[in-house]
Amino acid sequence: MTAAMNGHRPAAGHRVVIIGAGFGGLFAARALRRAPVEVTIVDRANHHLFQPLLYQVATGVLSEGDIAPPIREVLRRQHNARVLLGEVVDVDLAAREVAFDTLGTRSHLPYDSLIVAAGAGQSYFGHDEFAAHAPGMKTIDDALELRGRIFGAFEMAELEPDPGRRDPWLTFVVVGAGPTGVELAGQIAELSRRTLKDNYRSFDSAQARVVLLEAADKVLAPSPEPLRRRAHRDLERLGVDVRLHTMVTGIDAGGLDTLQDNHTAGRIQAHTKIWAAGVQASPLGAILAQQSATTLDRAGRVSVAPDCTLPDHPEVFVVGDLMQLDHLPGVAEVAMQSGVHAARTITRRLTGDASERPFRYHDLGTMATIARFRAVAYIGRLRVTGITAWLMWLFVHLAFLTGFKNRVAASANWLVAFLGRGRRQRTITQQQILAHTHAAQGSQEALAADPRQPITSRR
Ligand SMILES: Cc1cc2nc3c(=O)[nH]c(=O)nc-3n(C[C@H](O)[C@H](O)[C@H](O)COP(=O)(O)OP(=O)(O)OC[C@H]3O[C@@H](n4cnc5c(N)ncnc54)[C@H](O)[C@@H]3O)c2cc1C
Repeated sequence: MTAAMNGHRPAAGHRVVIIGAGFGGLFAARALRRAPVEVTIVDRANHHLFQPLLYQVATGVLSEGDIAPPIREVLRRQHNARVLLGEVVDVDLAAREVAFDTLGTRSHLPYDSLIVAAGAGQSYFGHDEFAAHAPGMKTIDDALELRGRIFGAFEMAELEPDPGRRDPWLTFVVVGAGPTGVELAGQIAELSRRTLKDNYRSFDSAQARVVLLEAADKVLAPSPEPLRRRAHRDLERLGVDVRLHTMVTGIDAGGLDTLQDNHTAGRIQAHTKIWAAGVQASPLGAILAQQSATTLDRAGRVSVAPDCTLPDHPEVFVVGDLMQLDHLPGVAEVAMQSGVHAARTITRRLTGDASERPFRYHDLGTMATIARFRAVAYIGRLRVTGITAWLMWLFVHLAFLTGFKNRVAASANWLVAFLGRGRRQRTITQQQILAHTHAAQGSQEALAADPRQPITSRR
């Protein structure tokens, strides 16, 4: 089927196809709202996802709807834009056509300009078998899966009379101490010490153990030294067991094998493991590289010209996490600004201005929150920590959350979670409980037969 022939095309004009409605794609689409173009945005999800708050969905603070408004709702008033649901599987640069699949049906979409904003997924550094035991944190599916595992683990702990068998249910291991890992570990610690207090009768939820594993020698590696130290200290104050120089060598249903300082092997028995360690750019990058003179970096990101276009293909832009330009970081602000840059370049060209303008990134700062009232931020040379940084974090995230209704809903949930003690979004499905417990059952039997002393039983 050719989507352009479906009869629901906007009025004829320059055809801009945008792959992905994340920060890069959505900001590009919006920046084209007054341009004489017809925009088609194709995404495999029906929602725009605010990834920086995924960990709050996983830990019961926010609902999935708060951070994932439907793309077509966001663009409902933009009459030169339409939204199609589908997974882009091929781009033909010579024919200027994109192929995408929706529920087994292949469609083709011709373009005059193409913006590829397909982002990045999780990398398990060649150990994809870890994924089944330690989900990543990239999509709504991941966050809901983790929510099921986290709250399901506490339920299982309540049912387990044997302390040795209960411990792995109350041990939560986060792999990777970048911003996502730090935020997750902090939130799980706060959840167990604060939110779940007095909820269980056979154990004290504050006994839950949160372990943060990092192969490097520091947490929050890209941040300046004082902020890293502060984040490390805050995590330890929350009771997180931070282990640096620790590599994960194996993951199974019952726990993880580790290697500390390159020589000390260890094992942590834990039913809930979370992978927050690496990223791998969308496979669409390799498809573009096969047909053009561009190269990919180690994470699969596409090297682009200074104006974010593919070499020899000025009509194709690559933006956001999929783009490799001047070693810019994979952050939301880069994606938004590069998406807008691509849109403005297309608009300028249509007015006859073919001059090349390089993309200039304006760094507005970086921040990470560790728990309630604890955050670290740096904006240019300004370094901020503690409650001031936390309030800044709150304000910035509210400002960038898409849609007024989502901001209201998130504010209400934050009031409940941060000023009060509760977290409203703790619903898990029976299906999740069953999947989690079946996976763990096998490992419980293995644990009983294991002659090694599990670390979690040595407390
Ligand atoms: C857990 C987490 C926390 C983060 N925290 C922060 C933070 O605090 N601050 C910060 O600045 N950045 C943060 N980031 C990074 C930030 O979210 C990314 O840099 C940003 O989302 C990149 O935008 P993008 O548009 O390039 O890609 P994405 O936002 O990933 O969007 C890609 C879109 O493309 C779609 N897509 C992918 N492949 C296909 C395909 N084949 N066909 C159709 N559609 C496709 C996806 O469904 C998605 O909608 C975080 C990321 C994660 C995962």
